Amino acid sequence: MAAPATRKTFHSDRTERFTESVIREMTRLAILHGAVNLAQGFPDFPAPVDLKKAAIRAIEADHNQYSITWGAKPFREAIALKYARTYDLALDPEREITVCCGATEGMASSLLATTNPGDEVIVFEPFYESYHPDTLLCGAERRLVKLHPPDWRFDPAELRAAFSARTKAIIVNTPHNPTGKVFSREELTQIAQLCQEFDALAITDEIYEHIVYDGLRHIPMITLPGMRERTILVNSLSKTFSVTGWRVGWIAAAPELTTSIRKVHDFLTVNAPTPLQYAGTMALTEQQDYFNGLAEVYAGCRRAAMEMLENAGFRCFKPGGAYYVMTDISAFGAADDVSFARHLVERFGVAGVPGSSFYFDKKSGSSQIRFCFCKNYETLSVAGQKLAGVRHV
Ligand code: GLN
Repeated sequence: MAAPATRKTFHSDRTERFTESVIREMTRLAILHGAVNLAQGFPDFPAPVDLKKAAIRAIEADHNQYSITWGAKPFREAIALKYARTYDLALDPEREITVCCGATEGMASSLLATTNPGDEVIVFEPFYESYHPDTLLCGAERRLVKLHPPDWRFDPAELRAAFSARTKAIIVNTPHNPTGKVFSREELTQIAQLCQEFDALAITDEIYEHIVYDGLRHIPMITLPGMRERTILVNSLSKTFSVTGWRVGWIAAAPELTTSIRKVHDFLTVNAPTPLQYAGTMALTEQQDYFNGLAEVYAGCRRAAMEMLENAGFRCFKPGGAYYVMTDISAFGAADDVSFARHLVERFGVAGVPGSSFYFDKKSGSSQIRFCFCKNYETLSVAGQKLAGVRHV
């Protein structure tokens, strides 16, 4: 039978406005060219032995079926205990915690649960790339507030001007990807006051919570005065326990917010992998020593990565947290970040992420490339050798 003259389009309008992840595309290119992958942020060293054993034990003990959709009870209880211990923050595991498939789902479910088409969501730019499709999928309108290099501070007047009666939420990612900025108490307080003045939510992505340097401290927005009822906190096991492939995250929010978040989560993914939640229960009992050790290891990697990048001619913006370094590539005289990143992966065997993938206005990131340093010294040193020739080309 002949097809009708006018064909339907099978791409929804909502998918027409964003691309696949550039970070993950760079990983595919790294594999294709046998390059060192300093693009997608995941460790190349093993996850903690005890954690792996706990996962194996959980499978053997047959924790292999659906868990309660909002998370296995012992895991939610372990999450609540961790926040009580670390921040003196009381969370009700029955009504305020939702376990989800990584922070990426956590952010998407939170936005889908709280915004309507036409609502405005404020995002600091540069931003972690998934916030862009997240807001598009919700039909929300983005209001951007610039973080200015070299220390990635925002202009308080610009922030205030971004808020309006239409603001539903602001996304706050601290420690920040891609810049490594750790928002100070003063900055968080400015944001918190505006959220209260304009009756807006703060949706906070805190997955680098324990990766902070130079004596800086991570402060969860939810602990600030007036923010307990209007913050949605998102976090995961991925970065703290070096298990980015497990896809186990959580969302903490007041009961009324949690009710709608749980509905979205339930019908999107049902539950995060059950045995890995049981293993996570064990992980979250880790004490401060473990977290300090993690930050110390990454502080060493930061030093090594910045040294090799600076030697190769990149200008580094020193990160205060997380495990990425944003660099300025102006010295190389390349046409733009995308062509230079391709050149690096194809010709020199090192993958980074073009800066423009973290900006809505692509021009703003066209002289930047992000590299991750959550890698063995050996990997970083191989990358350094490969990059050493770049400036001579
Ligand atoms: N957070 C990591 C990054 O920024 C990777 C995220 C992902 O691919 N899900 O590189």
